[in-house]
Amino acid sequence: MTQKLYYFDAYMSEFSANVISCDATEKGFAVVLDKTAFFPEGGGQPADTGFINSASVIDVQEVDGVIYHYCSEEFEAGENVGCSIDFDRRFLNMQLHSGEHVFSGYIHQLTGFDNVGFHMGESAVTVDFNGVVTPEVLSRAERLANEAVWNNLEIETIYPSEEELEEYDYRSKKEIDGQVRLVSIEDVDLCACCGTHVRYTGEIGMIKAVSMQNYKNGVRITLHAGARALENYDAINKSIRAAGALLAAKPSEVPAGVEHLLEKLDMQKAVITDLRLKLNAVKCEKIEPGTPYYLEIIAGGDAKEAQKLCDMICEKALVGAVFGESDEGVKYCIASRETDVRPIGEALNRALDGRGGGRAEMVQGSLPCNIEKAKSAWDKITSLPENPQASVPTTPAE
Ligand SMILES: [Zn+2]
Repeated sequence: MTQKLYYFDAYMSEFSANVISCDATEKGFAVVLDKTAFFPEGGGQPADTGFINSASVIDVQEVDGVIYHYCSEEFEAGENVGCSIDFDRRFLNMQLHSGEHVFSGYIHQLTGFDNVGFHMGESAVTVDFNGVVTPEVLSRAERLANEAVWNNLEIETIYPSEEELEEYDYRSKKEIDGQVRLVSIEDVDLCACCGTHVRYTGEIGMIKAVSMQNYKNGVRITLHAGARALENYDAINKSIRAAGALLAAKPSEVPAGVEHLLEKLDMQKAVITDLRLKLNAVKCEKIEPGTPYYLEIIAGGDAKEAQKLCDMICEKALVGAVFGESDEGVKYCIASRETDVRPIGEALNRALDGRGGGRAEMVQGSLPCNIEKAKSAWDKITSLPENPQASVPTTPAE
């Protein structure tokens, strides 16, 4: 069995070992060593990466007690190899994992809820609790967790005997067979864990709960700690400063600035709507009464405006149509006070793979194409001798 060096010293980043076996697999060469400091994925903590000699180790997995290092190169059994792990990545995982224990320990102390799910992803750590945590308790736990960091408490690993274990009140996500490994942070937390941790809580750096959402019967909390908390703070600081510069506002005034901008936007929208209605009325005045088909094109896909305009067109034309042009395609509205417009809508849908329908007096839908294609299909449909308005002169719209 491979000796697990990461349990003796979580800070070991370089070591030498002997190759026990090496097999070609779909994931690369699976190398088994006599000892390793590479942490295999487990307990929510991702696998370490690094090198065995010059071969990259892309994944490490433990299966039935055997630790496989998936490598880009083949090794001979018996070969002595030099190994190094990506310690920046590992140390961040230690900061995140220890930070999670401190935070979950306080949530447990404050609510009695258990951590029932833990995942350390490439960009965030999530912890799931089997009860609904209030925002106030979340803030309290976050504050206490950071105080535990400032107090620089020792993080110890305990391997209790079965009898000793019965004395301990510890958190655990599952029933454990065999030797239980407990990670203890004085007065904060005692939790069964297979992961790697920092020696003192001070090394964790800031612990920040960045979001909380309802999940199953409880909540899912996203946490940042250590180097990641700093990176996150930096990224948010840059974004808020950039937004502030655009709004000519201090970072703290950005929300008020955006609110003001949205109010202005609403007012301008109202002015534009009014102007467009007036413009549409002028356009409709020019329609020759009795025009069989009349198509008007507007910018955007506002259904209400299209309906209103269509209705105005129908005061003069037998069949009125409005096509709204947008990035997502063309929205159409076709109406008539005298004839069934559904066949025209169906013909458009057929020609351009569109969707939509409606009543005999008005159909609406969308066409996944540009305005030129939609207009040429309209011209074609309304000029066909078998078109739904064959009884009226087939003068296409302008
Ligand atoms: Zn753990």
